[in-house]
Amino acid sequence: PSSGYEITLRKLHRGVMELGFYTNAELKHALKQAKESSSPALVERLSSLQSGVLEHKQSLFKFLSQIMEEDGYAQWREQEAHELSDLVQRRIQYLQNPKDCSRAKKLICNLNKGCGFGCQLHHAVYCFLMAYGTQRTLILKSKGWRYHKNGWEEVFKPLSESCLSPEGDSLANWPGKPDTQVLTLPIIDSLLPPRSQFLPPAVPADLAPRLARIHGQPLAWWVGQFLKYLLRPQPAINELLQSTEKKLGFKGPIVGIHVRRTDKVGTEAAFHPLDEYMPAVSEWFDQQISNGKLIDKRRIFLASDDPKVIVEARSRYPDYEILGDPDIAKTAAIGTRYSDNSLYGIIVDIHFLSRCDFLVCTFSSQVCRVAYEIMQSFHVDASSSFRSLDDIYYYGGQNAHSWRVAQSHYAQKTEEIDLKIGDPVGVAGNHWDGFSRGKNLRTNSQGLFPSFKVEDRVEAVKFPTYPEVPL
Ligand code: GDP
Repeated sequence: PSSGYEITLRKLHRGVMELGFYTNAELKHALKQAKESSSPALVERLSSLQSGVLEHKQSLFKFLSQIMEEDGYAQWREQEAHELSDLVQRRIQYLQNPKDCSRAKKLICNLNKGCGFGCQLHHAVYCFLMAYGTQRTLILKSKGWRYHKNGWEEVFKPLSESCLSPEGDSLANWPGKPDTQVLTLPIIDSLLPPRSQFLPPAVPADLAPRLARIHGQPLAWWVGQFLKYLLRPQPAINELLQSTEKKLGFKGPIVGIHVRRTDKVGTEAAFHPLDEYMPAVSEWFDQQISNGKLIDKRRIFLASDDPKVIVEARSRYPDYEILGDPDIAKTAAIGTRYSDNSLYGIIVDIHFLSRCDFLVCTFSSQVCRVAYEIMQSFHVDASSSFRSLDDIYYYGGQNAHSWRVAQSHYAQKTEEIDLKIGDPVGVAGNHWDGFSRGKNLRTNSQGLFPSFKVEDRVEAVKFPTYPEVPL
């Protein structure tokens, strides 16, 4: 298939989504007004409009999924996704297993960033991206790791079979010199300008056209490949995952919900009641049924750092089969968060979230973003298989990135801004009501604009192409 064809299909999908967000929000608003002004006839009309729009949307999504099944490219998509992943995995293997470790260029990264597991994984991925970009073998220092004192290698496979030593003839702190053998990298927050072109949202230019054709969020796919390599479990963790799978009775079709509470609420994110998550869950199952899929049960995998959430969900939503373990959530309590039990808990939760067919969560949490990134390695393109209650997808500490205006806009309200086709726009967030907030980088004005009028761009950057690794 041509790139244009694949990209247009995804645009269509996004367009229907945004139309849904927009009409749903507007109708909710109008309904509230109608109720307040006691106009029962209008309330009834708006309610029926609301369900009518939902049905229209469902049938459009159904046609879209039919096109994907009927156009004859399904097998090609599978094959292409498999080949791309295989290529990147082999390149990482090559980078991590140099012929002569004593002379290899190395990049040292300390795992123990002062933050949670998801944040530390993102820290490790950032180091890995820099290692890939500078063709240096990544050495992950993890003795004294806050989640497991003996280090990473007792939990996950070592990053190399032949090169784990941080030794070398010359040592320096990043950025050092190109011929310095061993460089130590600071955390992303402490990188001095000019930072690095290899930071997200960059993806390698030699892969970008293929990625842009097959995937709606190449950055998440790219990050997911490094997580896939990093998170190869040691046998004990593998057994833990398998026994948990049996114990839970984990199987698809299943929606993953992540509810981030405790220390996050009120500091870095708002409180979201379960009721805010459930409409997206039920809509997903309804869509599957409308697409002709067989749904034996409405199954949910629910992960949280607050055990009460799982108990509450089971009592309030008896129509759903809710998999999850309040005892695991208990291990996430702030006082005991950095312990073995808590580590096993978060590994299990992230693993099963990533294996769900759809995620409902807050992208302000790195737990959910990591699960979403790993999820990409299990599907050809699961970039739209999520509903975030707050942020859009991003990578913490990423380089500035702009979207492009695809359709011009004249501000209709004082908080809106004008857009001209081609303008670069820094997108701060999607309100999931048809509008996004951001800054037009041509006019420097900030405000709201219809989300569907701007399009994300793939940030293709020249990385090493690893010609030693066959395509
Ligand atoms: P963020 O703070 O949500 O962005 O994510 P981090 O991973 O950086 O820190 C949160 C930490 O809280 C996690 O690493 C876990 O230790 C714990 N935690 C948060 N949510 C969950 C959950 O759903 N399950 C478990 N087991 N632990 C969680």
